Amino acid sequence: MIHTMLRNKGTFLVLGIDAATWSVITPNLSKLKNFKRLIDLGKNKTITLKEKPISASVWCGMFSGKLPAEHKHESYVVNDEIVKRADIKVDFIWDILHARGKNVKALNVPFVVPPYSFNVDFKPIGFGLPTNEKEWEEELERVTEETKFLMEEKPDLLIAVYTLLDRIQHFHWGEDYVLEWYRKMDDKIGELIFDTGFLDGNNKLIVISDHGFCSFGEAKVQTLPEHTDKGKLKGDHHEDAFLVTVNVDYDIERPQDVFFAINFFASKNLY
Ligand SMILES: [Zn+2]
Repeated sequence: MIHTMLRNKGTFLVLGIDAATWSVITPNLSKLKNFKRLIDLGKNKTITLKEKPISASVWCGMFSGKLPAEHKHESYVVNDEIVKRADIKVDFIWDILHARGKNVKALNVPFVVPPYSFNVDFKPIGFGLPTNEKEWEEELERVTEETKFLMEEKPDLLIAVYTLLDRIQHFHWGEDYVLEWYRKMDDKIGELIFDTGFLDGNNKLIVISDHGFCSFGEAKVQTLPEHTDKGKLKGDHHEDAFLVTVNVDYDIERPQDVFFAINFFASKNLY
């Protein structure tokens, strides 16, 4: 016991970026310096989803380890009722590790609306569906500040998710405006990962999206109607999601493997 207490095991950080997309990131790496630094430092891949690229379902599977047929949670709203955490009959990684005595924090995880937080008091922006520039800016700032604050506590596991790129790409896919927001996201990755020295020690990092993006007409599934009260949609979800890992020697092929990777290292007391 004394031995494990003396070891500095570090923090496992999962940074979720809803809808982060290689087709925007790869051609713009000269402008996205922190994404580039992360990619150079770690391992990266495209996760091509075999399940439907629906945010609620993918985030739910990622942190419960369950396939859609097992967790049965496909949509934020069912029969005109908002689905709540208690309606989803699974244990999430934060429930499991907390029960084992780990210090676990989860911030703004969008498998439900408003997004879910665990052991963190956080009020999501715009009910978790930020729809204008002011709300996007606010989410970017507040998730970053709260994540930085939580990182200083050095929890065993910290999960934090940004939702804004999903919203921005639905409304602005194909415009230069999208890259502007990837650059803002890139600055925040710099603040969180590099300015803090997070990767200098034993810490582990996963940066992941739940799906990618493409033009509205190209998408295999329509996750929202083309015409909404906020205007016509230009983009929708694509099955290719983004992944970079640093110090995580575990094969992640599907969203569910994030759960198993975290659980693997936790059971070996490696963080
Ligand atoms: Zn999403």
